[in-house]
Amino acid sequence: MTTSRACPVCKCADTRVFHRIERVPVSSCVNLDSPGEALKFPQRTMSLAWCPDCTFVFNSSFDETMVRYGSDYEETQSFSPTFRAFHESLCDELVARYGLRGGTVVEVGCGKGDFLDLLVRRGGNRGIGFDPAYDPERRPAVNPSDLTVFPERYAPGRVATPVDLVVCKMTLEHIPAPATFVREITHAPATAAPAPVFVMVPDGRRVVRSCAIEDIYYEHCSYFSERSLAALFERAGYRVDDVKAVYRGQYLAAHANPVPAGTRQDDDRDRSLQRIDAADIDRFRSRWLDTRRTWGELLDRYAPGVVLWGAGSKAVAFLAGIPGADSIRYVVDINPYRQGHFLPGSGKEIVGPERLKDDPPDLVVVMNPVYEEEVRATVSVLGVDVPIVPMSGSARSPSTADDPRAVPVRDE
Ligand SMILES: [Zn+2]
Repeated sequence: MTTSRACPVCKCADTRVFHRIERVPVSSCVNLDSPGEALKFPQRTMSLAWCPDCTFVFNSSFDETMVRYGSDYEETQSFSPTFRAFHESLCDELVARYGLRGGTVVEVGCGKGDFLDLLVRRGGNRGIGFDPAYDPERRPAVNPSDLTVFPERYAPGRVATPVDLVVCKMTLEHIPAPATFVREITHAPATAAPAPVFVMVPDGRRVVRSCAIEDIYYEHCSYFSERSLAALFERAGYRVDDVKAVYRGQYLAAHANPVPAGTRQDDDRDRSLQRIDAADIDRFRSRWLDTRRTWGELLDRYAPGVVLWGAGSKAVAFLAGIPGADSIRYVVDINPYRQGHFLPGSGKEIVGPERLKDDPPDLVVVMNPVYEEEVRATVSVLGVDVPIVPMSGSARSPSTADDPRAVPVRDE
């Protein structure tokens, strides 16, 4: 299947759609107040397309007007001690690498401002943030002159002073026209020299290779490999000097630096970058079917005793993608701003961990394996004895060691 859309990164016209997913809720992290509202939430088709040139993957039927980001968009993971520790160490790494002391940092897509707040406090910097999902009532308690957040999308011209570093973390994957976006954020302000950029995105190669159903959802219209991320910044006059997988392989973290106009990229280095190749794309559909079958069988064995842990985008994607997910009893989240709301599409209730005591489940599925140990510790403190399995794209089949009711998966 070819698509009429050229690649949003490199303009290659030869892209092809390799997979479609029907009825995907158009927003995963929006707080909805009733099951009725959640069940009626708009759903659209995702058409995953691949560029054979730069190896970018994107939703070629993405409709930007369907996605809304406001202060009811509850995306933060900062209630997790594991995530906070990751943020703190990343912050210290950036401060040391860029000598960020008393400087100015712009964060495009700063969410609730948690990371920008760290950069301000731990480096004595000034922070300027942009995010339509920012909530001024939850503003970090730093000196107001040190932190300015615009509760809106980034717009060129909003930043008037020279910038020492642009941070763009977990944002590019939401942008349908990333080439235009990167040109805009790398030239802020327009009159000053381009600043270095730290960028972090989900590792799209991991998502495609391991068929991480839980990591494919509507807001994420763009899926990068090392190769396509480098290609994107090259076109804006940057070179990606250092790119690595972080957060147990889930994210790609890259440092992009401006290079003089006309600088030729190094072919050897380009070949060394990881890419989403044709074989990955060709295998995707059978893996998709395998993942659905394996998890569908597991839910079947435990229905209706399964609860999910983690009410973010991964849970919404899981509920939309796995057959039988309607039998899920409820979804636990430690973020108090999510509790009492309902998940778009499925209408499942989001509750605090204490619910496990009142309504003990037969199986807990942890949506992000990074949090497995944290979840086990919380469940143990609650005194609830229940098997716990992580949902993991890289280990699609729930391990039989973790699942007492596991039966061998059929080869069909
Ligand atoms: Zn391309």
